[in-house]
Formats: sequence, structure tokens, C-alpha cells
Amino acid sequence: MDARKHCAAEHESADVVIVGYGPVGGTLANLLGQCGIATLVLEREQAAYHLPRAVHFDDECMRVFQTIGLAEAIEPLVHVSPGMRFVDPAGLPILEWPRQQARTPVGWHASYRFHQPELECILRQGLARFPTVRVRTRVEALAVDEDAAGVIIRAEDLNTGRLERIRARYVVGCDGARSFIRRKIGETPDDLRFDERWLVVDLLLKQPKPELGDWSVQYCNPARPATYVRGTGNRRRWEIALRDDEDTAEMVRPEKVWALLAPWLTPNEAELERAACYRFQSIVARPWRLGRLLLAGDAAHQTPPFLGQGMCAGIRDAANLAWKLARVLRGLDDAGLLDSYETERAPHVREYIALAVRLGGLINTKAMQAALPDGTRPGEPVTMDTIKPELGPGLSAGWTGLPRQVVPQPVLSDGQRLDAHVGYRHALLLRAGTTLDAAALDRLGNRDVVVVKDTAPALQSFLSGHGVIAVAVRPDRYLLGAARDAAELATLVQQI
Ligand SMILES: Cc1cc2nc3c(=O)[nH]c(=O)nc-3n(C[C@H](O)[C@H](O)[C@H](O)COP(=O)(O)OP(=O)(O)OC[C@H]3O[C@@H](n4cnc5c(N)ncnc54)[C@H](O)[C@@H]3O)c2cc1C
Repeated sequence: MDARKHCAAEHESADVVIVGYGPVGGTLANLLGQCGIATLVLEREQAAYHLPRAVHFDDECMRVFQTIGLAEAIEPLVHVSPGMRFVDPAGLPILEWPRQQARTPVGWHASYRFHQPELECILRQGLARFPTVRVRTRVEALAVDEDAAGVIIRAEDLNTGRLERIRARYVVGCDGARSFIRRKIGETPDDLRFDERWLVVDLLLKQPKPELGDWSVQYCNPARPATYVRGTGNRRRWEIALRDDEDTAEMVRPEKVWALLAPWLTPNEAELERAACYRFQSIVARPWRLGRLLLAGDAAHQTPPFLGQGMCAGIRDAANLAWKLARVLRGLDDAGLLDSYETERAPHVREYIALAVRLGGLINTKAMQAALPDGTRPGEPVTMDTIKPELGPGLSAGWTGLPRQVVPQPVLSDGQRLDAHVGYRHALLLRAGTTLDAAALDRLGNRDVVVVKDTAPALQSFLSGHGVIAVAVRPDRYLLGAARDAAELATLVQQI
């Protein structure tokens, strides 16, 4: 689109401007690039942040990385995690969350450890594949204003000091916890009541220390709640709660840090990479969209990291939003489609935050009883299951009796995985023997829906196990709807 004719002083234009080039902005840019959408990413900093915050992501995120064609590059750099254990002050386990070692139905492992700067580097390199995506670092977005033609972003090129006006049809604020776009859009975010200062310490082991183990450990110790995480290679992380009377600047000093780490290791055994204090908060923005302005990632929600789901939620935001933006920009749907973004994503992320806050209560022992089932005894740990929330109210089609969750990714008869066959598009999965007439096939073709008629046992047993003859899947791999008979299939086809 050439928007310069609207305003002579405009320096640049794009269909979507993404403010913020963290993991969420980077993933969203890759997804939009894949859709061929003219996208401009603005980032204040010169380079990706060189130290990690997130250390874990899940199978669903890896599936999104697969969608953008980067899973193969990421896989050699990750470590599959066996799970997480919560122990009492005596070291006795009270709760265990084992993560299955075989691939899940989603097609990837349940839990990965990773080094965030490496992931961000791959996401950034991935953008070189897309001629429609442009990245500008050292550009700070200062203000956004909507007019009849779209949005004007006022930004400063930090290299030259030049002030610019950039035009966009949509702006997505992936600008992190202190998002200025969130402040522009809305009211005070909902506070889900967790706000603590924690010291985050990253270390590089100088020698193997197998006794630390591969499981993450949550030390539910009222005297000093702490988390241990095995990172990739020789990387190890401790997160340690700070007391109200402890001074942040004082607590990040190496001698203080080593004193806190004394129960686990000494300065001879590891090199201190960094120690920093973070505020672990739990908030959800309201709303996530105002006209042509949208939020994603930490700008939209923040969670204490006890489930390792903050970035994961942001990656899910990107996967939910990108295809909707692309459809609206291509004229396949009207802008109302974008309203489903918040209604679907906000309840989903709230479930993760609520569980993380409850687990935080267990770790800091302030709400231990509330977090554990009745009758739990130290040394006889209860097992925690992975939650798989459904999307909140939003898009649906056909018969809506199945949960609106991520659908499995079976391997098809030709050895290809489902997503590789479908691409970042809608799919209609058909039970063997189910047929579609020419009009239905025409409509599906026009709507860019891939019809998958394959006899692979994993696909067929997924359909027959749910008693359906067809399932419609969205580009973000969530279930859109299903059909149990020919009449419902006709409706499903009409509503995709
Ligand atoms: C200690 C800790 C541990 C964590 N562990 C996990 C974990 O294991 N798993 C997990 O999933 N999550 C975890 N998280 C959360 C995760 O780190 C964040 O959710 C994630 O990094 C957020 O990504 P983002 O892209 O939304 O924002 P950010 O990474 O914060 O990126 C925002 C970007 O926007 C840029 N920006 C801001 N304002 C402007 C502007 N006006 N103009 C231009 N650019 C701008 C910033 O420079 C920045 O690069 C953890 C967090 C912490 C603190």
C-alpha cells in the first residue's frame, strides 16, 4: 500500500507495524511474513537482549516454530526436560509434575529448556526469508494516533535523532511489560494478585555437577523460597525470593549471591553470568484491542514464571493473531474477526496465570494449603497434570461439542506431518469414506482451506475416537468445529 499520498510528511508505511522485537514480536513478524503481509518491526535496542529471561517453552510453542519453518534450527539447541518437583523445607517432595519423554500428540516434546538469546537469534535470522518484512532497530515508537486512513506512529530514529511519521493499517504492541501501547489502549490492567521481588541468577558450571539433577526444583521454604532450573549445556538458573527488607542493589552483589547459593554450589564450581532482580507480577490488560491497535505478549499479560508460560502465552498470541490480521488485510473477513483475538486468548492465558499464582503460593508457603490437595503428605508427592485450557468464546463452526483446544498433529500416509502438509492455513480433516460435493470443494478452495483426506491411522483414530466425520482446524492448530454427519458437515463447510 502506498500511504504517502495521504500525508506528505510520512516517511514509511506498512500494513502491520510491530512495536517490539522480543520473542513475541519476532514470532509474529515471521508468521506475517509467511502470509506475505507488508510488515515493519520497530525496536528501540540495537541487538537482541543478550541474557535470558525465559528458559522453558512447551510443545505448542515448538509447533508454532515448526509453522514458521524454524523448528529444525531450534531443535539442536534445546534440552528436553523431565519435569518439575516441589519440595518442603526438609527436601521431601510434596508435588511432582513429570513431563512425558515421548513426543505428545502435538508432535513435539512437552517441555523444552532453551537459551533465550539463541532462540531470538534464530527468529531474527528467519525474517531474512520474507521480502515483505522489514526490521528497523534503534527506532523508538513514541506515540500512536488513529485517523480515518489507519494509524500514524510517531517514532525517533535513535541513530540520527530524526523524528518520523510511519503509517500502518494495524499496529501490534509487542513492546513488553512497560508497553506504552497498552497505556494508550486502555484501562488499568487486571491485577491477579501476585507481586514479589525475586533474584534471578544465571550460572555456567565449570565442571559437571550431576547431583543438581535435570528436574526443576521448587524449594517451598518459608525462610527462602527458591527455584532451580537446569538450562541447556552447562547453564543453570536459580530464582530466589527476596524479603521485603532486602535491598535490591545489595542482593545482586556477587558475595551476597554466592552466600544464597551456598546450599547448592561454590564459586569454584560455576561462573556467575548475571544476577538481576525482577518483579514477578500477574496482570492481564483490558482491552487487548482498540480499533487498529492491538497488544501481544508481555504487553498484554504477565505471569510469575513458576509454570514457564509467560513467553509461551505470547507465542500463542502471535499464532492466534497473525492469520486473523492476514485475512482481514486480504479482505477475506471483516475487521470484526479481530474481536475474537482477546475473547479467545484472555481467558486462556488467565488459566495459566491463576495456576502460576497458586503455585507461587505453594513455593512461598503463604498459601500452601490452598495449592495442595487435601491429605497431601511430605514424601508422598501428589502428581500434577499439564493443563490444556480451551480458548475463550470466539470463533466456531459446525458442531461445537469438542473442546476448542489444539488438535493433534498426526503423521500422514506419505510420512509428512499434518502441519507440513497444511501450511499456515485452515484445514478440514475428513474421516475415511466422507465425501464433499463440487460446490463444497469450491467454497473451501476459495476460503484457502486445505482438505485432508488421508487414511493415516493416527488421523482416523482421532476422528473416530471423537465420533466425528470431519474436524475443521484453524491455522493456529486450534479446533474450529466438527461434524458428526452429512448435515453437520454441510454447515461446517458453510461456516469455515
Ligand atoms: C526470570 C524470568 C523467567 C522467565 N521464565 C520464563 C519461562 O521459562 N518460559 C516462558 O515462557 N516465559 C518466561 N518468562 C517470561 C518471558 O521472559 C516473557 O514473557 C517474554 O520475554 C516476553 O516477550 P515479549 O516479546 O512479549 O516482550 P520483551 O521480550 O520484553 O520484548 C519487548 C521489546 O520491545 C521493545 N520496546 C519496548 N518499547 C518500545 C518502543 N516504544 N519502541 C520500540 N521498541 C520498544 C523492547 O526493547 C523489547 O525488545 C520469564 C520471565 C522472567 C523475568
